[in-house]
Formats: sequence, C-alpha cells, structure tokens
Amino acid sequence: MKSFCAEGIILRSRDFGEADKLVTIFTKRKGKIKVLAKGVRKVSSRRGGSLDALNQVKVFLQETKNLPFLTEVEAIQTFPSIKSDLAKLSIVFLMFELIDQFFSEEQENILIFNLLLDSLKGIEKSFDLEKDKIFATNFQLKILSQIGYLPELGSCVLCNRTLKPETNFLVPYLGGLVDQGCSNEVLLSKSISLEVIKTLRFLLKLSVTEIPKLNLERKLLKEIFDALNFYTVFFLEKDLNSPRFATRVEKFY
Ligand SMILES: [Zn+2]
Repeated sequence: MKSFCAEGIILRSRDFGEADKLVTIFTKRKGKIKVLAKGVRKVSSRRGGSLDALNQVKVFLQETKNLPFLTEVEAIQTFPSIKSDLAKLSIVFLMFELIDQFFSEEQENILIFNLLLDSLKGIEKSFDLEKDKIFATNFQLKILSQIGYLPELGSCVLCNRTLKPETNFLVPYLGGLVDQGCSNEVLLSKSISLEVIKTLRFLLKLSVTEIPKLNLERKLLKEIFDALNFYTVFFLEKDLNSPRFATRVEKFY
C-alpha cells in the first residue's frame, strides 16, 4: 500500500472506537480528507495532542482500502490564542463549517487553503473581536466567489441597469441584486444598502494581510454579515439540506 504525506488544517478530531481518532483535515493539495489515527488516545501516545482541531499539521499517511491510516504527525502551528478564547473559536468554527458544507472530499482549492491559513494567523494575532469578524466575513465572501455563488454586484439581474444609490434587493434564487423598479417581480429577497454593496466590492479586492488596518463600523459589518448569511443559507439549504450553518450563525451575534 502507498504512503503519502500531506499538509493541512485539522477541521475536526473525533474519538473513534476504544483508542482511535477520526480526523478531518483540509489539506493544501488534496482538499478535505478523513484519516484514521489508531491508538492515539492511549496515555503513552506521542501523536495524540498534535491531532487537536485547528492545528496546522504535516501528516504521513498509509493508503488502505478504506480510510488512510495516520502513521506520523508533526504540528506546524497550534494557534493557542484562538483555542483559549471562546469568541474567537466560534468565529473559526463558522469558517470551518463553510469549508465542510461547500467543499466535497478531495476537492482541492489552494487559494481557499491559503486564505484560511492567513485568516487563522490574523485572528490568532488580533486583540479585537470586530477585526476577527472581518476576517470571517472576508473568508465567507471569497468562498462564495471561488465556488461561483457570488451575487452579481454591479447591476440589476432583471433589467441590467446599473444599481442606483437607493435600497436594492438581494435575491439568492436569481443569483444577484434587483433594483427598486424590479423588486415587485421577485419572491424571496432581502433589502441591501448601497454602502453594503460597495463594501462587498471593496472586500473582494482586499488582501487578507490588509485586514488588520481596516476599520468597519459595527452596524455595517453586521449588515454585511446578515446579507452574506441570507445568501449562503439559501444555497446550503437548497443544495445540502443542512440547517447546521444557520444554527451556528444565530449564535454568532
Ligand atoms: Zn431592474
């Protein structure tokens, strides 16, 4: 059987059987993978602690007919500040949930992997929960963009006119925004201010390393967060029938 090595971030680590762990890792080159770590819960195991959720690790694996077996693990980063802060943890698990829901196993995406890693580094260093929320919101926006679910932000999807500085409407099932003139023709929508639309356009071009310098008003950030979640939950419930994301979002603010 073949051996291979992978670098990734542990999304979940669950007890399995008497002494084993089932670990879900979002890897750089192979996307999301599940691996079985045998005997790691025994007191003498050197590998146990390195398999905590959130750790950035390098793993050595042995292919089997079923799940790959973990033979060795090296922790690269363990993010202690995030792990000791429940508010930071809830933000990070929301980001993990997005990966879990939007990516199938072995669907690799290096851009999202690097964005996740940079966002974790940013959240680890930050002392400001509002900033942490910007990292998470930026991450969500870019996942939607990567998988092609991002709303068209320039013009009305029904009449193609450029959006005016007035309240417009976000319509997930049409994949974009509708202006006031067309708003009577749609069924499911959420009003969205031009300020939110402009900030979304701005965030799309922003690099994650610029977030520590960025300030967004709390009210505006909440509006962006609500708009993105309205959109995200529509796709998740429609495609995957999972209410878990919505439940986590409700606890967020
Ligand atoms: Zn229109």
